Amino acid sequence: MAKTPFICVKCGECCRWHGYVHLTADDIKRMADFLKISEKTFIESFTRLTENRQGLSLREKPSGECVFLEESVCGIYSARPGQCRDFPQKWTAKGAENACLGLILMKKLDEKR
Ligand code: SF4
Repeated sequence: MAKTPFICVKCGECCRWHGYVHLTADDIKRMADFLKISEKTFIESFTRLTENRQGLSLREKPSGECVFLEESVCGIYSARPGQCRDFPQKWTAKGAENACLGLILMKKLDEKR
């Protein structure tokens, strides 16, 4: 029987995990356009250099959650980076199945089938 499809329930858990939200040039352009600011201002205001100095990541609040997380909702959802869109179909993180409410729900529904 077909597995239950994944549905993001916007719990925001994945946006609270420590680590990089790696950005592409397209990501930066899309988010800057969404916020109606220049790419230069976007980079200066919302990004940080990765430790290996090879790329940019979104900044985090002092709490460690993503700079764009508003309570449990992404403030730039329609313009969010590719890395965010690709979770959890194209990549996942250790322990995600116990934190992401969409994955937890999917697993519970599969068990009932
Ligand atoms: S950009 Fe949005 S979806 Fe991506 S980590 Fe930040 S708050 Fe979450």
